[in-house]
Amino acid sequence: MNAGDIVSHTEMCMKEGRMLQHGMNFRTAQRNSVILMSRRKGAPYHDRVLEEGRVLIYEGHDVPRKLNVVDPKACDQPRSTPSGKLTPNGKFEQAALLFKQDGKNPELVRVYEKIKTGIWTYNGVFRLVDVWIEESEKRKVFRFRLELTDADVADKPNQADLEHNRLIPSAVKQEVFKRDKGRCTLCGATDNLHFDHDLPYSKGGTSIMVENVRLLCARHNLQKHDRIE
Ligand SMILES: [Zn+2]
Repeated sequence: MNAGDIVSHTEMCMKEGRMLQHGMNFRTAQRNSVILMSRRKGAPYHDRVLEEGRVLIYEGHDVPRKLNVVDPKACDQPRSTPSGKLTPNGKFEQAALLFKQDGKNPELVRVYEKIKTGIWTYNGVFRLVDVWIEESEKRKVFRFRLELTDADVADKPNQADLEHNRLIPSAVKQEVFKRDKGRCTLCGATDNLHFDHDLPYSKGGTSIMVENVRLLCARHNLQKHDRIE
């Protein structure tokens, strides 16, 4: 996977080897930590992107909606379940504190972002470097700070990743996907798509706007890289 790749929910689950039904998925013995974010209108959480896409401030998750929970948005976000097990908030918090306070290696987290229903894009690997709890609308929410890294978790390092050391802004991705109607702009293919920007950052491409981003299929994206290198 390269940052900017576009996948269906099923493909995303296959790539990660796990069912991704929740936003926060902490590492298991065999699986990487995976976070799903959304910056679409009406998204349930407020995820923010700073420093030209190198930093993600990710909001923790609410108590699950159950019969005895009338409004999860009115409850503090839980660190543990009623039976005392850590929730994903608690697990990611623990990992962030191990890095911040004990100097352990940071947790590496693979991040996907929702473009529209059923369509996701891979944002790359992030280091989990900080956590704090914030008062927000009269309740407590977790905030996690994640920083984009070139380190790879499971995939082999890939040259193509180097040009993606910043994220294409969410609004740009959403608009480009809509403008290009979910198809490769060169051949019309609808699978293995990738957000391509005309000027690689490494070659002086600066601001990332709708005008210099387009959808390309894997084949045309590869051909483009061949030409440059
Ligand atoms: Zn194509």
